[in-house]
Amino acid sequence: GVPAKSDPAKSGAAADLPHGEAPGIRFEKVVKRFGQNVVLRELDFTVAPGERVTLIGPSGSGKTTILRLLMTLEKLDEGVIWIGDEMLWHMDKGGRRLPASQKHLHEMRKQVGMVFQQFNLFPNMNVLRNLTEGPVRVLGVSKDEAVERAKGLLDMVGLADKINSHPTQLSGGQQQRVAIARALAMQPRVLLLDEVTSALDPELVVGVQDLLRDIARQSDLTMLCVTHEMTFARDISNRVLMFDEGQIVEEGHPDQIFGEPSEQRTRDFLQAVL
Ligand code: ADP
Repeated sequence: GVPAKSDPAKSGAAADLPHGEAPGIRFEKVVKRFGQNVVLRELDFTVAPGERVTLIGPSGSGKTTILRLLMTLEKLDEGVIWIGDEMLWHMDKGGRRLPASQKHLHEMRKQVGMVFQQFNLFPNMNVLRNLTEGPVRVLGVSKDEAVERAKGLLDMVGLADKINSHPTQLSGGQQQRVAIARALAMQPRVLLLDEVTSALDPELVVGVQDLLRDIARQSDLTMLCVTHEMTFARDISNRVLMFDEGQIVEEGHPDQIFGEPSEQRTRDFLQAVL
């Protein structure tokens, strides 16, 4: 059986986290357009293996698009995106995708997990099935192993007693904890967090942030996080990238970006959100 664990900060929780070498991420001259709207303009950046990076910047600056490209929920128009030493996307100027194989894309996306602002749990499945469905169907894990792993993860997020509940019976904070556990159940090597607390009631925010901070510290995942919550960004990341209009305006350690930003656009943005 799985030992009882309610506090993820205690040792042992890390045993339920995904293991294995985390790949880095690299964007090379990535262009993404929606019609006439150029959302990413020859964007270049690198995230080192196991590094945790927060993306900040005004609404519409392309942050979510970056995460969606990594999840293969969007495709790019030009450039290359690497995960580790493999290309996720490579689009030439003629708009042809290289390598073309759908199978390759499918294999690559298995390494990437995402937690969304709106939780996105499967509404017609109970909590346990939300956590076992992907591992069984996509990863080919046995039912027993998937259930065992799900129980360990639910323990870690403090929801062992909700295993048979349906998402609608849970608070927003509980749903988001299930969504975090579900993402981890897929054993990703890269974890993407998109404004994960902005749909939560204020009193539920800290609990979810604490959980993610513990996961960040205890795992070796490569993480990309979009958030306006500066304390959370400081807690969770080693580096902050400030975006505006599809390009990086400034980057640095959280203390520097939030404490003494050097660019006027960063100062204006921080003044507006704080
Ligand atoms: P951010 O996360 O920084 O707020 P997004 O990446 O969500 O920015 O959006 C960047 C730009 O792309 C915005 O102008 C947005 O309206 C546009 N956009 C995003 N998704 C779509 C879509 N599916 N169709 C058309 N435009 C989109």
